[in-house]
Amino acid sequence: MAKLYFRHGTMGSAKTLNLLAVAHNYRQQGKKVLLLKPDMDTRFGRENIKSRAGLQCEADILVGPATDLNHIDYEGINCILVDEAHFFSMEHIDQLRDIALDKDIPVICYGLRTDFRTKLFPGSLRLMELSDSIEEVKATCYYCNRKSIMNIRHLNGKATLEGPVIQLGAEEKYFPVCYRCYREQLEEAGQRRSAAIASR
Ligand SMILES: [Zn+2]
Repeated sequence: MAKLYFRHGTMGSAKTLNLLAVAHNYRQQGKKVLLLKPDMDTRFGRENIKSRAGLQCEADILVGPATDLNHIDYEGINCILVDEAHFFSMEHIDQLRDIALDKDIPVICYGLRTDFRTKLFPGSLRLMELSDSIEEVKATCYYCNRKSIMNIRHLNGKATLEGPVIQLGAEEKYFPVCYRCYREQLEEAGQRRSAAIASR
């Protein structure tokens, strides 16, 4: 039985590079992969899946709120790869879960675990609940040498908890951080995480 995988990591953990390497390996063996990404991520051009290291390829399907993943032709597909899976809806993750089982195609989803307020994205939450395999793509904290586990938002050079959750970021806006540095940065900026919790 094919599995549903969730490979999560912070900003800068080379998730997309990992995805592109998997796609490359399949294709080298003459196998077919299907690349999905949310249609809202237009940082590198609508169809492009591009890693910060410079590698890129084109997404086969852009998934929007109205997309029904059950209505795609999976004939001959050996693996489904999803970039920025945290932006997928819970319904889309449910559909991918069933596709892995019913079509016997492994589905590998790459994405962030939490947003800059340390809350799970809906797509990531559903992936945590449904995946056969949950793996961490590791990266180092921007400020120290510990492993990063969250992402901090910077606005004009200062850490902040303000602004909408969905604001697609480049590297100058978000940094991978460990919890100690996350708290220190917010304290320095005069914003406490407890304030964010209180406002939920
Ligand atoms: Zn740190």
